[in-house]
Amino acid sequence: TKTLRLILGDQLYSHHSWFTETKEEVVYLMLEMRQETDYVRHHVQKVLAFFQSMRNFAAELTEKGHRVRYLRIDDPENRQCLEKNIGDLIDREQFDRFEYLLPDEYRLDKQLQRICEQLPIKTDCFDTEHFLTDRMAVKEFFSGKKTYLMESFYRSMRQKFGVLMQGDKPLGGAWNFDKENRNAFREEVSVPSFPSFDRDLGSLLESIGEAGVQTIGTVDPCLFSWPCSRQEALIVLDHFLDQLLPHFGRYQDAMHTAEPFLFHSRLSFALNSKMLHPLEVIRAAQECLEKDPKTYGLAQVEGFIRQILGWREFMRGIYWAKMPDYALMNFFDHKRRLPAFFWNGKTKMNCLKQAIGQSLQQAYAHHIQRLMVTGNFALLAGIDPDEVDQWYLGIYIDAIEWVEITNTRGMSQFADGGIVGTKPYVSSANYIDKMSNYCENCHYSKSKKTGDKACPFNSLYWAFYERNREKLENNPRIGFVYNTLSKMKQKDEILKQAERYLENLEEL
Ligand code: FAD
Ligand code: SF4
Repeated sequence: TKTLRLILGDQLYSHHSWFTETKEEVVYLMLEMRQETDYVRHHVQKVLAFFQSMRNFAAELTEKGHRVRYLRIDDPENRQCLEKNIGDLIDREQFDRFEYLLPDEYRLDKQLQRICEQLPIKTDCFDTEHFLTDRMAVKEFFSGKKTYLMESFYRSMRQKFGVLMQGDKPLGGAWNFDKENRNAFREEVSVPSFPSFDRDLGSLLESIGEAGVQTIGTVDPCLFSWPCSRQEALIVLDHFLDQLLPHFGRYQDAMHTAEPFLFHSRLSFALNSKMLHPLEVIRAAQECLEKDPKTYGLAQVEGFIRQILGWREFMRGIYWAKMPDYALMNFFDHKRRLPAFFWNGKTKMNCLKQAIGQSLQQAYAHHIQRLMVTGNFALLAGIDPDEVDQWYLGIYIDAIEWVEITNTRGMSQFADGGIVGTKPYVSSANYIDKMSNYCENCHYSKSKKTGDKACPFNSLYWAFYERNREKLENNPRIGFVYNTLSKMKQKDEILKQAERYLENLEEL
């Protein structure tokens, strides 16, 4: 049977069972399309990384003897959307069958179902064999329960996959070591330099520009360090395991002006494009601990594994349990526009300037920068979660909706009213100062709540709670905030200060 098999840009898993044997009658189809470059305005490095990785993957398949049809962004035959490209090819070359791998995005899932309904030939879809759980596993795990608790899901995953377990007990007698994972970074250890890859991305960059794709952010092709093939991804993984993992957990929440990446793995793009399998990363980290427990330490390794075995699978499960409604949730009814400085980094607030500036330059910020700097500010300032989602979905190298929206709308903006998190992640300057060196060189004063140069976080924080009293006061994890607020002598002044800032967000 002459079969056309579609491989999407984030389905670059070379060990998938599709590829175990070569078949003359099977043609693999890969497409660089405007439908994908234009559904949101992406960071230029993200477009570059996806296209380069797709091209490398196609070359790898061809080398192994598979038949591949690849349409580049500037190919005259390219109709720039799935329906037309698939339809054209099937008409022209008389395929008998069309097959695809289950997409991770709701948008593409629906689109491919529609396409299959309309095609006059037999169609079928297959699992990507990437995730450790099925789409609906989280929904089923929590069926009948009111809340989704990551911790209980994570523990069940540890047991199911026998990761960091001693019989049926967690290794070391505890499931998590969060308390050991909250250090600030004071340059007491140096951050090893990251591997660089010798490759020329100039012509790809040019063709993206010439095709008219609108992007955000900047790229210096010489400094572009994202892995764009499985081989490069394995080099990044090895570097992480050898050099960074020993310090991972300790500095997981730290932020520093001189070290945007600190000891984070930078594996999210390789994982989300499926060049790496989550279980191979988890097993490799566990092996480090087994081989050399002195260098690695359980707290460091557990802190890392939790992100992939726990959070990553959990977020995907929430996505499939709650879409499409999830994309419309706006618990606080926030409506403000995102200030222009999110797009150019021009703000006097040093923490935002650093986190946004770095995101524009590197298509990357680590978790705490996303959550406790940009996300924290957007939530306190009452920004419309649609605007916040668009920004996060565009700017980060690893941003694909299933993991972006659950983290942004859910964890960071609490727009889901508490499906992902039990309380909003907000803070005043205190937390940012404790975990970073940002406040040292800021125009604003971290200790002032009111008056000239008072840090905006310090008044917006209290105004956020005051404004949302009805929705939050009865949350048992928040009650203490309202106690403090009711005793606060300066309350009116602080709320007025916040009001002034909210009226002039663009000026911050
Ligand atoms: P490390 O810190 O080295 O962590 C290792 C791996 O764990 C990551 O590569 C990632 O695969 C996984 N991981 C860690 N935290 C999470 C999490 N909360 N959810 C799911 N997986 C996690 N991650 C994305 O992959 N895509 C996104 O679009 C995305 N958007 C985010 C938006 C906000 C507002 C927040 C707060 C977090 C977001 N995250 C997202 C999660 C996390 O910030 C990134 O996965 C991480 O920063 C990627 O860098 P790293 O590979 O160096 O991660
Ligand atoms: Fe950010 Fe406030 Fe610190 Fe400035 S003082 S860096 S605005 S937290």
